[in-house]
Amino acid sequence: MIAIYGGTFDPVHFGHLRSAIELVEALGLSELRLMPSFKPPHRDRPTTTPVQRLEMLRLAVSNTNSLRIDDREILRQGPSYTIDTLKDLRVEIGEEVGLAMVVGFDAFAKLNTWHRWEELTDVAHLVVMERPGFPALQCHQTVLDWAENKWLNRLEDLQNAACGRIYRLRLSQLEISASFIRAQIADNKNINFLLPEGVIEYIGSNRLYRPLIPV
Ligand code: ATP
Repeated sequence: MIAIYGGTFDPVHFGHLRSAIELVEALGLSELRLMPSFKPPHRDRPTTTPVQRLEMLRLAVSNTNSLRIDDREILRQGPSYTIDTLKDLRVEIGEEVGLAMVVGFDAFAKLNTWHRWEELTDVAHLVVMERPGFPALQCHQTVLDWAENKWLNRLEDLQNAACGRIYRLRLSQLEISASFIRAQIADNKNINFLLPEGVIEYIGSNRLYRPLIPV
């Protein structure tokens, strides 16, 4: 089974990477693809380019065989809908191979806001990462109704189908977020041990996330 882990990765950090490794092991994946989105969600300046976010990801996973990067959304240049990306992937890997889209519980709770969201399970499974602080009660009722007959408890059942099911997983939660890292840098604080050293060096040499010096 192949799984897709999407995000902005602005920048990638150990919270992403630790959960990615745990996903590979917990789901017995042949491959986990980290897929940076083209659209930068953070409007505050200064910001990084999609290519810089991609380069930081490459540095982060260069020594980790089970983690791959899928750069199709960045290369497509323009906002892409998850449903289109998954359909693209489905064509590429064929009908038989298991494909799972990983989403945090916070994203799952408002899945009904995504473009053609009800079609997502026609092409892939959904793996929902539980996140503390987001109780099931906050999940939109339309999503709960739609998901009702799709939940699976046994991993074997997920592995035996190519798409169509929803599986919940609890992973380690490191208290790290990209916004915290950006704020630390803007404040001239030390960001060691929050993200890989290669990424820290890249951020430093490209002066990313620093306030612009007025001219
Ligand atoms: P920001 O702080 O800018 O919102 P972020 O750190 O949450 O960014 P994203 O790129 O938005 O990172 O997240 C991509 C995916 O990684 C999401 O599914 C999110 O739930 C998950 N994620 C982010 N941080 C962690 C963490 N510390 N532990 C586990 N999963 C995480």
